[in-house]
Amino acid sequence: MKERISELTGAERDAESGAELMAVKCSICGDWMDVKPGHINYISHGICPRCYVEEMRKLARDT
Ligand SMILES: [Zn+2]
Repeated sequence: MKERISELTGAERDAESGAELMAVKCSICGDWMDVKPGHINYISHGICPRCYVEEMRKLARDT
């Protein structure tokens, strides 16, 4: 019984280490920023630090 449990946890660990990574792309300049766990065929969009500063500057100017 004990052996069976360790087999199961071992399989779970393998599944975790083989997790797919999802690319994160800047939606403004298109720079690849990061990868994070997720589905390999999906691209997540975000804003890179450079564009974030630029966007904040624009917002500050508008108000
Ligand atoms: Zn950017």
